[in-house]
This record gives sequence, C-alpha cells and structure tokens, in this order.
Amino acid sequence: MEIQEVILSQKEFFKTQQTKNLKFRKMYLEKLKGLIIKNENLLYEAIYKDFGKSKFDTFTTEISFILNDIDYYLKNLKSLSKPKKIRTNLANQIGKSRIHPEPLGNILVIGAWNYPYQLSFSPVIAALAAGNCCILKPSEIAENTMKAMSKIINEHFPPEYLYVYEGGIDETTELLKLKFDKIFFTGSTKVGKIVYKAAAENLTPVALELGGKSPAIITKDAHLEVAAKRIVWGKFLNAGQTCVAPDYLLVEESVQEQFLETLRSYIKEFSYQPDAEQYTKIINQSNFERLIRLIDKNKIYFGGKFDKEKLYIEPTVLTNINWSDEVMREEIFGPILPVLSFKNFNLALNEVLELEKPLAAYLFTNNSEEKENFTNKLSFGGGCINDVIMHLGNDNLPFGGVGNSGIGNYHGRFGFETFSHQKSILEKATWGEPNIKYPPYSENKLKWIKRFL
Ligand code: NAD
Repeated sequence: MEIQEVILSQKEFFKTQQTKNLKFRKMYLEKLKGLIIKNENLLYEAIYKDFGKSKFDTFTTEISFILNDIDYYLKNLKSLSKPKKIRTNLANQIGKSRIHPEPLGNILVIGAWNYPYQLSFSPVIAALAAGNCCILKPSEIAENTMKAMSKIINEHFPPEYLYVYEGGIDETTELLKLKFDKIFFTGSTKVGKIVYKAAAENLTPVALELGGKSPAIITKDAHLEVAAKRIVWGKFLNAGQTCVAPDYLLVEESVQEQFLETLRSYIKEFSYQPDAEQYTKIINQSNFERLIRLIDKNKIYFGGKFDKEKLYIEPTVLTNINWSDEVMREEIFGPILPVLSFKNFNLALNEVLELEKPLAAYLFTNNSEEKENFTNKLSFGGGCINDVIMHLGNDNLPFGGVGNSGIGNYHGRFGFETFSHQKSILEKATWGEPNIKYPPYSENKLKWIKRFL
C-alpha cells in the first residue's frame, strides 16, 4: 500500500469515531502488549544485530518501559478520558463547565535509533491511548529494529489505524509534506528544526524530543562513592548513546582527585570490554569516526582505546578540559566523558547558564542550599539530584526538553495530554438569563456590569 493511501485511509477511519471508544482502545493496547511479549526474542535479536545491545539492557531500558506504559494506560484510561468538571464563574451562571479531552486525529511519530523500541513505541502507545490513528516512522539507522517493529505492527494491526512506514531521509521528507494533526519527533536539534519548519506549513502542532549537552555537577558535599557509581552506570549505558546521559562533569576542585579515582575504579569494575553484555557498539562508522575525533590524546585520564572493526570505543575520561575544547562544542552521544573543575559552585552554575538549555542536568550534593540553587537557577528539561537518568523511570513525571532540547513532553498522563485536545464546554440553562448584556446599552447597565464583572 502506498503511504499516501495509508494516510487517507487513516483520515477516513478516524472520522468513523471508532477510535474514541474506550473498549476499542483497550483492545488494541492489550493486543500490542501481547505482540511485544510474544515477539520478545525477535526484538532482542534485531537490536543485537544493529548495535550489540544485550537482552538485559534491552529489557530494562526498552521492553519494560513499553509494557509499563501499556499497563499504565490500561489502568488509567477511564479517568484520563473522562470529562472534567470545572468551576463556572459568576458571569456564566446559570451554567456548568467541563473539559472534554478529545483525540487530535492523525499522528505521525518519527523515532530515533538509540533506544529504538522505547522511543518509537512509547509515543505510539500514548497516541493510541488518547484515541488517535498513528503512523510510525522509526529510524532507518537501526535497520533491523525498524524491520522488527514493522513486522510486528503491519502484520497484526489494520493499516488504517496503526502503520509502520520504513524509510530514511527521503521518505521522511515526503511524509513531512503531508498534513497530520500532530507530529511527535525524537532526534537531533538539527533535524528537529527541519520537522518544525515542515509542520509550520500545515500549522501542525509538534512535540520535539531533542538532545543537548547535559551536565552533572559534583560538589565537595556529595557522597563521592555513590556519585561515581551512578555516573559511570548512566554515562556508559548504551555506550553513552543516551539522550539524557551526563554529557560532561563539573567537579569541585577540592574533591576532584578523589572523585576521579573512584570513577576509574568503577569503570574497571563494570568491565566494559568489547562484546561484553553490559556494553554496546557505536551505531555506525560515521558516528565512530566523529567520536574518535573528539578524544584529545593529551587529555586522556582513563581509556582512549578503540577498535574500528568492532565499532568499540573504551569508556574514556578526559581531564583538564576547557569550555573551548572541541568535545565541549557539541553533544557527545558516546562513551567520552570530559571533566571540568570549579572552585565556586554558583560561578559554575553561571557557566552552565551561558549554554543552550540541556535536556537533563544532574547534581550530586547533600548541601540543601546547593540543591535549591541548582533547581531554581538552571533551566533544563528534567533531571535528578544524587542520581542520573532515573527520572525517566517515574511515569508520574513529564519527560521532555526546554529551549534547544525540545518542545512538549510525554510519559504517563502527560503523554495522553500531548495527543489530546482539551475541549472546553460551557452548558447554559435556558432560564434565569439577566438582560444586562443585551442591547440597547445604557449607563445604568454599565454601572451594574462593572459591579458584576
Ligand atoms: P536524527 O535527528 O539524525 O534522526 C531522527 C529521525 O529523523 C530519524 O527517524 C531519521 O530518519 C529522521 N531524519 C534524519 N535526518 C532527516 C532529515 N534531513 N529530514 C527528515 N528526517 C530526517 O537523530 P538520531 O541520530 O536518530 O538520534 C540522536 C539525537 O537524538 C541526539 O541528539 C539525541 O540527544 C536525540 N535524542 C533525544 C531523545 C529525547 O527523548 N529527547 C531521545 C533519543 C535521542
């Protein structure tokens, strides 16, 4: 089926109102859950072929997220879609007000390759839960996962409801010329701008889940052991190819030596060898080469080895880094961790404030004033105090960027709202209408209106 035909069929199908029925939505969410469970091995094999990601990591960072999302919506669908009663102001008496969440209609989800299942399926699940039809265009860069998702969906879902469209830049460019009711994009800030421009032509609203340079700050009041362990885990998970991984560290000078030693011992303990269960490959040759160029040999504190054949880069820590270094000019998105040091916490915050707003930020400290300053001064999508990445695992928190790191958010109820329109309804009684707003106007009426409003 041609993609134009699929889109037309989805538009027609949405008009039938069937997707608004809660039983219908639940039935397909259950179906998707069943398919994910049944095809778990297919999903593991595909992602392993693409970048050597293990079953353990795929389950904990992808499959479990997707299943949790489905369970969340199955449990909460009724309350999320229920019209909400709202207070009615004096000027609108005698009346009742409510907000009706309604599906937007036809959704386009464009996914990224680094967590291909989670970043494709999670928005799709939220879009279906909210009652929409959906086209998913996964990233062609993780080709096997794209094919696995298309097999699972296209063999079992009616294309007029949910369809996976396989393709790269050319296909996406064509898709972006068509009219959708919302485009949900995950990827780089550069491509996010292309999507935003194309969407503007049709006045299509967008959610843009982008990237950026996310800092982790470690002060002298941090629990250094815990900080090092959690940072090593979060930075080298997926070989650093995580949008919310700490991109660089800012460490208070007086504890830097001790902290770096602890960091080194955890990197060794976690054993990120080529082909190890706990480590993945760099996705492709061009990213591998881009990353190698960011390693300044004179600044290596730990690591620096690589294997071009295996697309392996050892966890690499760089020290004596300045803001002007190459590695500080772009989002790293790989297993390279530059460390800058600071003497004054507030001045360090000011330096971060000079940069584009990141997707995440992390602070390690037990000092309440520092926690307060970090939370109130810096602007970032979301983050943690004394941990990294884990804020994503709480679906009661919205996930999304701000400024250059994105527009809009999702997860839990926020995902449902992202794909819904909040329709306002004021229902008036047909009795008890004061004459005061109706012409002809008079000084006396104005006097009463002024009192009234
Ligand atoms: P990308 O921007 O290169 O690609 C994302 C999607 O856009 C893919 O589906 C791709 O086919 C499509 N695309 C690429 N170039 C295009 C073009 N010129 N025109 C139209 N479509 C195009 O991003 P990526 O390499 O897949 O992912 C890495 C980036 O994504 C990083 O910046 C990372 O921080 C960010 N990211 C953000 C999140 C988040 O949730 N905020 C999650 C993962 C990744």
